[in-house]
Amino acid sequence: MKRDLKELEEKVGYRFKNPRLLEEALTHISYAKENRVPYNYERLEFLGDSIVNYLLVDLLYEKFSKFPVGKLATVKAYLISEQFLSELAKKWDLPNFVRLAQSEELKGRRQSPSLHADAFEAVWAAVYLDSGRNVDFVRKLFRKHFEKEVERAVKSGAFYTDYKTLLQEITQRLLKEKPTYKLLKQEGPDHDKTFLVECTVKNLRTTAEGKTKKEAEQRAAKKMIEEHFREQFEKITS
Ligand code: MN
Repeated sequence: MKRDLKELEEKVGYRFKNPRLLEEALTHISYAKENRVPYNYERLEFLGDSIVNYLLVDLLYEKFSKFPVGKLATVKAYLISEQFLSELAKKWDLPNFVRLAQSEELKGRRQSPSLHADAFEAVWAAVYLDSGRNVDFVRKLFRKHFEKEVERAVKSGAFYTDYKTLLQEITQRLLKEKPTYKLLKQEGPDHDKTFLVECTVKNLRTTAEGKTKKEAEQRAAKKMIEEHFREQFEKITS
């Protein structure tokens, strides 16, 4: 474990004055219970959640100064998602430094994006505390590691996983109107239902099917964008 910590410190580019903090940040509650360790990362994660949130928003605010607030909110929601934080955590191979109980290991927990995101948040809280709550230092360290990843993610338009939100942004701006969704049909047995949904805005209309109402709505919204607002979509994501 000691050697592992040193290895991680090298990746992070920070030497802990109190290595116990880093150890705590990497200790899942299941491991603590199994091995009677008196600490786990939950409290650090609680603090780290806000710190990582702040670090990402700060970066977003500065780098994308032309984005209106609605778009900032959409991008933020993507950046603080488990999926994106998991990607950042993997850059340090962080998942492989977490101490997990055998039972969780068997459940494949080490591959779970939520574990990666939690450990990532906890590690940032540990750095923050160990540095004497030096926000400036933490902000610089974070940027050094992840500024490029964040910029790349935003520029690729990867944050638009939510077509309903995207369509609404487009139609509000262009037509001063929100799209509406109507369930037209649901058929099939309970365990294998198909939903047919209609999306309308002004005189435009698309329909799509899905295994859930939500999925059908997302598909109808995506179709609406592709068929009627492709140009605006490309403008927004470029
Ligand atoms: Mn979390």
